[in-house]
Amino acid sequence: MHKKSTDRRNYPAEWDLLNRELKAIEQFDTNLLNVVERLREHQLDTGFIRDDLYAVQYFDFPHPDHPERFLSVQYNPARVNRLKIDVNALPPERNDVVNEGCFLCSGNIEWQHRGIEMGYTIDLNGMPFTVLMNAYPLMPAHIVVVTEEHIPQAWDLGDAGMRQFRIDEVVANLATMAQRLPGYVGFYNGDGAGTSVPAHFHYQFFMRRNGGDRFPLELAPVHQVADLVAEVVEYPVSAMRWSGDNRQEVIARAAAWINDWLQVNLETRPNLSANIFAMADDSGELLQVYFVPRDKQLGHSPRMSGMIGSLEILGELVLTTAREKRDLDWGKIDYRSIARILSYVNVPL
Ligand SMILES: [Zn+2]
Repeated sequence: MHKKSTDRRNYPAEWDLLNRELKAIEQFDTNLLNVVERLREHQLDTGFIRDDLYAVQYFDFPHPDHPERFLSVQYNPARVNRLKIDVNALPPERNDVVNEGCFLCSGNIEWQHRGIEMGYTIDLNGMPFTVLMNAYPLMPAHIVVVTEEHIPQAWDLGDAGMRQFRIDEVVANLATMAQRLPGYVGFYNGDGAGTSVPAHFHYQFFMRRNGGDRFPLELAPVHQVADLVAEVVEYPVSAMRWSGDNRQEVIARAAAWINDWLQVNLETRPNLSANIFAMADDSGELLQVYFVPRDKQLGHSPRMSGMIGSLEILGELVLTTAREKRDLDWGKIDYRSIARILSYVNVPL
């Protein structure tokens, strides 16, 4: 069906051909579910997706007093390879390298991956973004949605003198995208809150395990504080949730609350960052947005090798090292120890 060509001369033509095919699928479906499935198939076929979770093991640990709640671990040994750049991938000409070789910049994608990485260009609230597959997925169908422009991941604090998203734009784009991928989990890892590419703005989306498993954060009890607005309680990190079937209203309420909260806390917490989530249910009707405040100085927990990003905040630690696997096998990890790891990065609301 599709060629496995890595011939550089064909790259723009192949990108264009793939984009036309995906556009036709999107127009027929009106959402992006089959587009992502087709892109994933294409990227598995070219060999860009290196790991398709075959080696991943999952462990769920129930809450000692409330067995319906749990925290989990995925042991994902392939993740340690994710930031290795292939030594054979050198740019054909020095001036082909843009923005210090940033691997989310379209100008670098072709030479870095020798023509096998391709994406799909979409419009998100009037701005061009590119959908790329994650080479080392954390979940089935794990995508990265990146701005075409090389702009930073951190939101605008009004002092940057360069193009950056305001927090309300970060929320609006994420929630809009979530409704185009019903059933998926979408998230934004703020600067120092799990992102490995702070220089280039991006969101991530993935399909849930077993076609629809909900995460511990989504199963945590909430205290309703106003119409649409709830505070997550009895969870290792602080979180707010907005939910409803009117997208504009959910986005507006969440963005306004977060903006106010940031203004109030900016002086005392100059290193504020966040993990922000958006998910629409399978029908695409019910939209939920979560905000978890973070501090850039608290990106790691002393008891875990990797950064604490959105998947960890959702309640699933990603462990990658042999030593962590031994701790798992020896029963040194349980609900309470995972909760301790997460609570280390907690920023109170
Ligand atoms: Zn870039």
